[in-house]
Amino acid sequence: MLNELLGEIVISVVGKQATEIVELLNTPKYVNEFLLAKKLGVTINQTRNMLYKMSDYGLVSSVRKKDKKKGWYTYSWRFEISKCLEFLKDLLLKNKKEIEEEIASRKLKRFYVCESCGLEYDEDQALLMDFTCDECGEVFTVKDSSKLIKDLEKALTKINAKLKIVEVEVEKERGKLDKKKALDLKKEEKEIIKKKALQKKKRELNKKVQKAENEKSLKKSNKKVKKVLPKMKSAAKKEKIRKKVSPKKGKKVSKK
Ligand SMILES: [Zn+2]
Repeated sequence: MLNELLGEIVISVVGKQATEIVELLNTPKYVNEFLLAKKLGVTINQTRNMLYKMSDYGLVSSVRKKDKKKGWYTYSWRFEISKCLEFLKDLLLKNKKEIEEEIASRKLKRFYVCESCGLEYDEDQALLMDFTCDECGEVFTVKDSSKLIKDLEKALTKINAKLKIVEVEVEKERGKLDKKKALDLKKEEKEIIKKKALQKKKRELNKKVQKAENEKSLKKSNKKVKKVLPKMKSAAKKEKIRKKVSPKKGKKVSKK
């Protein structure tokens, strides 16, 4: 069903010659434009012309890829299904409005016709022409619009049925997109958890490294202290001795 609807869209935008492209572009994966041209049996320029026309309405999207051998970019394409359905819906609604207006006008107004020329005029025009044909001089007859109205009403029923079908496809597509979104979200959440775990590991590793470095530098400074300490101790001893000796000397001196 979807392919049928897409076909209608492609015909209205590009023309009948593009109907074969429908099945090729209705894939989840992007299709290389050279492959499209080959499968369609047309030149790459003709293929691109079709794609660009559809692209103008956002009906197709593309990704570009650099050709490793030739060094230039090639494009791959696919339908944007939601946009396509929206486009078709708008088209149908516009058509529906036109038909409804025509039916209302046919029911409300009177139309006149020259039977021999087959030309039709509304009431104002007919009045201006004095209800007589400029071409052949025949007097107008009142147009019987009942068959036309019936046909228009049939067309309206068809459009309404098609609008329902489009709505079903829109819902389907929405469901698909929601599913994909949920999957992407889950993926993203998993990535975040993974990232956090990695960061935690990194922090712990950093802590370990820092700790090891701290211990190392502590040992180093301890060694320094050990080296310096005996010197300091001996210096302090000397000082003590000097201090011990000098006051005694002074006392001795003062006593004497
Ligand atoms: Zn006439």
